[in-house]
Amino acid sequence: MPPARLDPATHRSHLQEALRLAREAQAAGSSPVGAVLVDARGEVIARGRNRVGEAQSPEHVGAASVAHAEMDVFFSVGKVRDAEHLTLYTSLEPCLMCGGASALLGVGRVVWATDDPWGGSGRLLAWSDHPAMQDTDVVPCPDPELEREGARLFAPEARRAFPEEGWALWRERYPAETADVK
Ligand SMILES: [Zn+2]
Repeated sequence: MPPARLDPATHRSHLQEALRLAREAQAAGSSPVGAVLVDARGEVIARGRNRVGEAQSPEHVGAASVAHAEMDVFFSVGKVRDAEHLTLYTSLEPCLMCGGASALLGVGRVVWATDDPWGGSGRLLAWSDHPAMQDTDVVPCPDPELEREGARLFAPEARRAFPEEGWALWRERYPAETADVK
């Protein structure tokens, strides 16, 4: 059974929290991506953010290239139960690792604020006809205002981290939000 249908205001509040965590990650020297995991009642059961630029700690995996926001969420939850009732909200379309982890766990729904036209894998989940990827419902960019906010937040990182063709895809997808990025 998929998670309960959630209204736009619910999406908005959880995506705002993911964006808040993304800004927290940026302030801490990591990549600006945040995520929250929400149960069937709409309660946040875990928060996570990118920690690639930070030291390892007893509570969090850090100092690793794979210390992405979604992995931070999944590590903090530990054993994921009733995954089909859970919704993962992220500030940015998950990468192949994090989208793959979500599908592997059978998370009922993944919602992201902003597309990542180079590094994102959420579209692969949405389009896949592989039977192991059928349990995860995908909701891209349900809130245009937060989509733009997320694009502005991540654009400098996209320019820095992605190859030229990756940045070109970002320019094409988000022309206004990438126009002033140096
Ligand atoms: Zn990832």
